Amino acid sequence: MRKHRPGPFAINVRDIVRHPGEMRVVDLELPAPEKWGEGLVSVAEAEQIAIRARLESVHEGILLSASVDSEYTGVCGRCLIDIAAPVEVEIQELFAYPEQETSDFEVQDDHVDLETLVRDAIVLSLPFQPVCQPDCPGLDPATGERMTENTGAEQREPVDTRWAALQDYTTDPDTDAPRVGAENTEES
Ligand SMILES: [Zn+2]
Repeated sequence: MRKHRPGPFAINVRDIVRHPGEMRVVDLELPAPEKWGEGLVSVAEAEQIAIRARLESVHEGILLSASVDSEYTGVCGRCLIDIAAPVEVEIQELFAYPEQETSDFEVQDDHVDLETLVRDAIVLSLPFQPVCQPDCPGLDPATGERMTENTGAEQREPVDTRWAALQDYTTDPDTDAPRVGAENTEES
């Protein structure tokens, strides 16, 4: 009979619960259950999340040390091309026994559930202003195209024909017309 598991990121620790000094290493590789992150880049739903979890039974509960590897995807914050890059985080957290009341995370029956911890750690590590490369030149303000390297070859000033047209008005042939005499009938 299959035992119900609380969630895909839960690790059964029954064999080390209440046995201080016991330790286990568990490797998990799971798809992200949903998109993690709301910024320009995120870990996509179903992206693989690789976790190496070291679980150590201590007096207060189960001490977790984990390395998490995945990949984020999204767009460069300057030039908007698609980017993808690895994301790696290290986590250490105590899952306390229920009577401890000292931790945000608890050992639940015979397991620890890593999902919230892993998700929060990954989301916090995502770059707020991701770039495709450190010196990404961004978009050309005139054309909206992604600029290539800053070689200067494409730095031509755009000619605005509206200004050329305005120049016609600077040579007005009628400016020599005699001024009409002052009709100032100032009476006192
Ligand atoms: Zn870029």
